[in-house]
Amino acid sequence: MNKLIIPSMVIALMMAVPCTTQAQRKVDKKPTLAIKPTDKSKMKAFIDELMAKMTVDEKIGQLNLPTGGEATTGSAVSTDLESKIKAGQVGGVFSLTTPDRVRKTQELAVNHSRLKIPLIFGQDVIHGYKTLFPIPLGLSATWDLALIEKTARIAATEASADGLNWAYSPMVDISRDPRWGRISEGSGEDTYLGSQIAAAMVRGLQGKDLAANNTLMACVKHFALYGAAEAGRDYNTTDMSLHRMYNEYLPPYKAAVDAGAGSIMTSFNDINGVPATANHWLLTDVLRKQWGFKGMVATDYTAINELIDHGLGDLQQVSALSLKAGVDMDMVGEGFLTTLKKSLQEGKVSEADIDRACRNVLEAKYKLGLFDDPYKYCSEERAKKEILAKEHLDFAREVAAQSFVLLKNENNVLPLKKSGTVALIGPLANTGSNMPGTWSVNADLKNTQSLLEGMQEVLGSNVKILHSLGANLLEDAAYQERATMFGREIPRDNRSEEALIQEAVKTAQQADVVVAALGESSEMSGESSSRTDLNIPAVQQRLLAALLKTGKPVVLVVFAGRPLTLTWEQAHVPAILNVWFGGTQAAKAITDVLFGDVNPSGKITATFPKNVGQIPIYYSHKNTGRPLAEGKWFQKFRSNYLDVDNEPLYPFGYGLSYTSFAYSDIKLSKNAFSAGDSLAVSVTVTNTGKMAGKEVVQLYTQDLVGSITRPVKELKAFQKIELKAGERKQVVFHLSAEDLKFYNADLQYVAEPGDFKVFVGGNSRDVKEAQFKLQ
Ligand code: BGC
Repeated sequence: MNKLIIPSMVIALMMAVPCTTQAQRKVDKKPTLAIKPTDKSKMKAFIDELMAKMTVDEKIGQLNLPTGGEATTGSAVSTDLESKIKAGQVGGVFSLTTPDRVRKTQELAVNHSRLKIPLIFGQDVIHGYKTLFPIPLGLSATWDLALIEKTARIAATEASADGLNWAYSPMVDISRDPRWGRISEGSGEDTYLGSQIAAAMVRGLQGKDLAANNTLMACVKHFALYGAAEAGRDYNTTDMSLHRMYNEYLPPYKAAVDAGAGSIMTSFNDINGVPATANHWLLTDVLRKQWGFKGMVATDYTAINELIDHGLGDLQQVSALSLKAGVDMDMVGEGFLTTLKKSLQEGKVSEADIDRACRNVLEAKYKLGLFDDPYKYCSEERAKKEILAKEHLDFAREVAAQSFVLLKNENNVLPLKKSGTVALIGPLANTGSNMPGTWSVNADLKNTQSLLEGMQEVLGSNVKILHSLGANLLEDAAYQERATMFGREIPRDNRSEEALIQEAVKTAQQADVVVAALGESSEMSGESSSRTDLNIPAVQQRLLAALLKTGKPVVLVVFAGRPLTLTWEQAHVPAILNVWFGGTQAAKAITDVLFGDVNPSGKITATFPKNVGQIPIYYSHKNTGRPLAEGKWFQKFRSNYLDVDNEPLYPFGYGLSYTSFAYSDIKLSKNAFSAGDSLAVSVTVTNTGKMAGKEVVQLYTQDLVGSITRPVKELKAFQKIELKAGERKQVVFHLSAEDLKFYNADLQYVAEPGDFKVFVGGNSRDVKEAQFKLQ
């Protein structure tokens, strides 16, 4: 990912042609992609007429999605883009941006190809375009759907001005394995929250009118189950029961489809023996027949070619398999372009298979309005005005601050005073290029402020800031090189570890407080960045221990793209603020939170384990037949470990504030209700501290007896509220039988009558509890 490759053919081409909101409880099912029935018949007539003129070669050409070269992963095999476009062998171009270049490339299709079919232009617009917001895992920690939707809206506004009309986003893969580097790109472990966010992202990207020049077509990825890669190793196999798929892993994709997502991307992984990109059951039976998806299916980067290594045959064979499974567009690999005609002649695919895929691609272009105006997404004027607009940057600062999670704050070390001397120490303290985080291909790395620069700008002369590196990111230089690719620099200091620590300790001794900026570089998470050791790198931990020894108060600012195992830090450091990778305005936002201009309110959306051996660890697990008694951490012949208890370090939904909140007992409107009726669950939340603050009030249920085993807790609703110091609010949730449904052994979606527990609290562990009956 993020590899900056500009193949020679592209260079040739370039030269030749030149708030606080109340969270919605239910996923909004109204499609945003509103193609009216009349438009639908017009679209059909238009495409029928066009396809009647197309040769088989031209139809196959529409299925080809080569890279334009700005960002590639794996190996790019496309060559000779310009002549292919003119020959009608290209349906879309991936990662080519700016109005001038997109326009000139579009001209090749529109002025020089026989049928003048416009190209679609896609890119990974994941957590912002040029204005970067926090990485998705951080964004999800805001639990604020309106805010998340607005980040996607801004991303679409900027990207569409720069020539793009298709975003490879949202990434909705549930992951319960922080070893997997791509946990950073999704919304964490929870099905319900993940589904809400998936829909919000689609709404934000696509807006109300896909054909408007400031919206992008969403591409939900990675379909499916990519986040369950075995051992957290990227691209690895997944093998999963159907219950688990339907109840836990598939709902976010479905929520995005229900919200009207125009396209979906197949994943790289094997699913129960059939890789997703060749999986007819997944792409046709589930996606098209069960869910009624009407959009376009694209592969992930060279995913068809990779079926060869999965062991499914040669390129011709796997391309045919993939087309027949339901793939419409082949990203980068050109298996479709080079083999489908032969497969057609040999009877291995039918013209109807090719027609289906071609129609889906053409429909996507039609919905985007490209047949009306192929240049509608190219606007120098709009690009100049919209990209990095002040209001986008201001919003990015606000969002970043909302995403940070306060993990510990002993004796109210935080917030810091805006006076005196602060020692800012650590390898993450002065690196602007690491602030945007993974999948920020358009970030201006040179001009993104480092934490040191942000603090200096925000605090001015009120606070004296001293800085030293203190330690290299990693002890092993080769590992550090792998962890700082693609311009995300953290220069190495070749002095000895002792010399660096000594210098840092001296700096710390001159200050009133130490801020240690430690953790991962941005390239230590994301694609192809799995890790088996989730500690803060040992060399940084040794620095931290030396800083603590000075006796100065130490605030640990953790940069990370995943839950780290912060067990030692939790035991020894008085204050810990987890800041993910916060985007363009991260430095200022971190300063805002550290110095109390913003009260932190983020809550983690993936469980933080105590050690790697606990993984996978997630709050909505099953009970087992030998659960541990409450309060115990070891009992012989019970489900536990000898060397560590079962509890996570920080539970799902956890996050502190500079103020504190008290929850009343739960009040139920009745003790029993039936389908068609609903139950009001209310609590009163009081701000018992001295500062205004935001709290995410979370509601979980447990189905006590089921026809299949049920999780110990499932998130069903949440509301983010704001309370002034001393203020109290009643928070009311309405539960219906619909909320209690699940897929049973026959994969029927049912609510089973019986007894349930309901829990409400500020995280998944510390909750009030009540019981009710569904009749
Ligand atoms: C990633 C996708 C991404 C694609 C195109 C792949 O390697 O898995 O998430 O959209 O590259 O950049």
